Amino acid sequence: MKYFYYLLVAFAITACGNSSSEKERIVSGNLEKTSDSSDFKYWTWITANPEKSDSAYSEEFKKYKENGIDAVLINTEANAELLSELAPLAVDEGLEVHAWMFTVNRPGDKEAEKHPDWYAVSRDGKSTYDEPPYVDYYKWLCPTREGSRNHILSLVEGLAKVEDVESVHLDYIRYSDIFLPISLLPKYDLEQNEELPRFDFCYCDACVAEFEKKHHKNPRDFDNPAIDMEWKQFRLNKVKAIVDDAYKIAHENGKKLTAAVFPYPEMADHMVRQRWDKWEIDMVLPMIYHNFYDEEIDWIGFATGQGVRDLEGKNTELHTGIYLPEMSGAELEEAINYARENGAKGAAFFDGGAFTDEHFKALRNAKNQK
Ligand SMILES: [Zn+2]
Repeated sequence: MKYFYYLLVAFAITACGNSSSEKERIVSGNLEKTSDSSDFKYWTWITANPEKSDSAYSEEFKKYKENGIDAVLINTEANAELLSELAPLAVDEGLEVHAWMFTVNRPGDKEAEKHPDWYAVSRDGKSTYDEPPYVDYYKWLCPTREGSRNHILSLVEGLAKVEDVESVHLDYIRYSDIFLPISLLPKYDLEQNEELPRFDFCYCDACVAEFEKKHHKNPRDFDNPAIDMEWKQFRLNKVKAIVDDAYKIAHENGKKLTAAVFPYPEMADHMVRQRWDKWEIDMVLPMIYHNFYDEEIDWIGFATGQGVRDLEGKNTELHTGIYLPEMSGAELEEAINYARENGAKGAAFFDGGAFTDEHFKALRNAKNQK
């Protein structure tokens, strides 16, 4: 359960390719690429606690800054007022502030709860309003309905208006998992060898009607919806449409748009119908959490490089997301190096509360490497 929670909450690492920080030089006749570590950004995700005092926050922010963190992604449950109180404290300590929000999955959203029809409906007819898949906080909204879309975008706008914020940071900007990460399946006693109706969204009246009008076929009638490419594309486009509108709103307010995403575009497409290399967005932070997928640390380099290549020619930076718990200091340093060597513009850590002294030491070491 713990892993599942972390997985869902913390998905992002942005890495990006290209750049002024990469210099090419000839060493002994070979072309060698080096990175200037001063241009590599270090981020951490944190969740705000309204009970915590300002001085305790200042102390926490100071500790991050002293240990090499450049930016904090603060989850205030889309509460712009709370964010406007915390942001100056972080800025005073020399940190960048990013407004981290749950986007399509909206657990505990009192406004959304007044509209049961805003919630996504599975292929077997269950609404996340009262029958969420996997876990009780999976309260996915329908990305098509005007009411739920406008509600999400109004939250983006509220956060974009907060002074001192660099970006609005979208998390859960996708559909509910059609496939769970492999390491989580045994915990739920599940086998997912195909797209199962219970986890396949959204088959609400609005989605079905809009799709049918455009493509003259009804997804509820498909024998095997997984192989209907228009139905797949329709859903990828629904997620993209929210992102692209959020991008406009963020930029109108002088802010950037960033997002926590799945490890690399095809994997994100396969697991959660999220194709982030097609989005209008300034930075992506793919959550390259190797242990969720039973992968080894070098996979962080593979996934980072894959995403960076997929973003070539776009103005989107990639910063690699790294999952701290269970990682030793040496492993963390290795992970950061894999991200950097494969073209990431930074590394983001999940989450602030998981840092140990050993992690901070590894971070300082990585930062001082030239
Ligand atoms: Zn729908």
